[in-house]
Amino acid sequence: MSNKKWYKETLHENVRVEYAIDNVLFQDKTQHQDMILFENKTFGRMLALDGVIQTTQKDEPCYHEMLTHTPILAHGNVKNILIIGGGDGGIARECLKHKNINVTMVELDSYVTDFSKKHLPTLSNDAFDNEKLELIFQDGCEFVKQHNNKYDIIIVDSTDPIGVGEVLFTEEFYKDCKNCLTEGGILVSQQGVPMLQGDEIINTKRRQQPHFADVRFYKTAVSTYFGGFMTLGWATDNIELHKIDLQTIQTRFKQAGLNDLQYYTPNEHIASFSLPQFILNILKKV
Ligand code: SAM
Repeated sequence: MSNKKWYKETLHENVRVEYAIDNVLFQDKTQHQDMILFENKTFGRMLALDGVIQTTQKDEPCYHEMLTHTPILAHGNVKNILIIGGGDGGIARECLKHKNINVTMVELDSYVTDFSKKHLPTLSNDAFDNEKLELIFQDGCEFVKQHNNKYDIIIVDSTDPIGVGEVLFTEEFYKDCKNCLTEGGILVSQQGVPMLQGDEIINTKRRQQPHFADVRFYKTAVSTYFGGFMTLGWATDNIELHKIDLQTIQTRFKQAGLNDLQYYTPNEHIASFSLPQFILNILKKV
């Protein structure tokens, strides 16, 4: 019997996923959440918060690239971005690959950021030391109440709608995000794995629709977000932005000089808005 230790993810009620722990690098309770960082031979360093895998070295680009480059290249004239959450720095890293963009990042738990900087340096890749990044430690749902008409893109890179992240899935938060956006700005957000968490996109669509002209979802695939496709929320008043043509996206992609990516491509951008029938069926319930 191998004496291997296993990390058991406890996000889903009837499904458990386990990852071999080759080495625990850090385990502690912050002021807000339980945190563990461990090494796994397949996925590299793995960060979990409150029993849920947040990010891994091997597959994090599948999530961070799609949540960042898709809205930025669709919008085409982004000056200011707001990140809510994003403590590991992956989203900030990807935003800062774009020239002439200022990034504000509002993270609840400074422990996550300090810790990721030290133990997961490839995720932030010095983003936290970049002068174009303003890092604020505050509850994101408070921050968006205090700012109007300021950000072209808001990226909500939160934990799941349990515990401290729950406030980032409310209608009030989405309304405040709308006020925080410039005209035609885009709010994108992580919306779980519909095969196992279908209620998330139902609730989000219901809560965003009163405040945005175009509420839809696009998809990515992240191996350690168990259950198949992950949906990303898309909300904006500019109903054209989700259907920008491939040639325009390719031109903007080239101009941005994004040549070190591992998941995002202009073709993948376009394809990500096409959803499989079971997800369309879930959304019909709204
Ligand atoms: N980027 C990772 C990924 O690849 O999915 C996961 C997300 S990141 C670790 C989630 C962050 O959201 C955490 O750092 C957590 O502290 C932060 N967070 C949770 N609730 C928050 C809130 N109400 N306001 C701001 N940040 C919050």
